[in-house]
Amino acid sequence: MYCRRESKRLMKSIRFLILLLVLALSNLVHALPKHSPIPGGVAIIQLDKSDDHTRPVVTYNKRRVMVVRDKENWVAVVGIGLTAKTGRQSIKIKSSGEIPYTKHFTVKPKKYKTQHLNIKNKRKVNPTAKDLERIYADKKEIIGALKHWSDNNAITTEFILPVKGPFTSPFGLRRFFNNQPRKPHSGLDIAAAEGTPLIAPADGIVIETGDYFFNGNSVMIDHGQGLVTMYSHMNSINVKTGQKLKRGEKFGSVGQTGRVTGAHLHWTVSLNNQRVDPKLFLVEKP
Ligand SMILES: [Zn+2]
Repeated sequence: MYCRRESKRLMKSIRFLILLLVLALSNLVHALPKHSPIPGGVAIIQLDKSDDHTRPVVTYNKRRVMVVRDKENWVAVVGIGLTAKTGRQSIKIKSSGEIPYTKHFTVKPKKYKTQHLNIKNKRKVNPTAKDLERIYADKKEIIGALKHWSDNNAITTEFILPVKGPFTSPFGLRRFFNNQPRKPHSGLDIAAAEGTPLIAPADGIVIETGDYFFNGNSVMIDHGQGLVTMYSHMNSINVKTGQKLKRGEKFGSVGQTGRVTGAHLHWTVSLNNQRVDPKLFLVEKP
């Protein structure tokens, strides 16, 4: 006999199976960053239909670019540098066994706001010759990590916030330190009290840690396919190079090391070695 309790139990397990199926499918569908083809933005470019199910190799300015599966299509996720020229740009696509081809996209102009900051420590604005040596070595190490490429099929470009707090300085500001022009702000500043935990915005591997002249104590996390995030001005660092991190896992805390005017996180997102706006990847509000 098929009693009521049994049918209830059956319904429950069917519902559970549906839930599992939905979760499995949602893992296969990539939520892409926001399409924003401007300097410091990200271009989402759909590639031509291909029967080939191995990921095509795509390059932009000779640099390898992220390619993800979006439903039936391969999609290139291209980081556009803050100094990129506006107008027509191109990517090169090579699928195995097929003729390579080019796809074009247009970079639109964007005028970022200006910011003036006063730094008390004059050396952080006009470094000595010895400081410059260190700055050069820092830069080499930082770029070495940011330009890293690792294959990753299970990539996520959906980020949760590494720390909750007001966004004090947006990405892209044209900057003056003590009235002297300097490089634009290539990250997003999030204010938080010294010692506030920092968590990984997505799964990744710690690719580098260091104490740098401008960036202070820093951690760099490789998320795969040229997507690398960096955390600067940290107080404590709780991880080592090579360590795997799960989304939400703590790796250190907010501080005020390096060139700062107060405790905050300077958060950098790098895609194909171009610094892009972290906000384009966020699925969470501050
Ligand atoms: Zn900053």
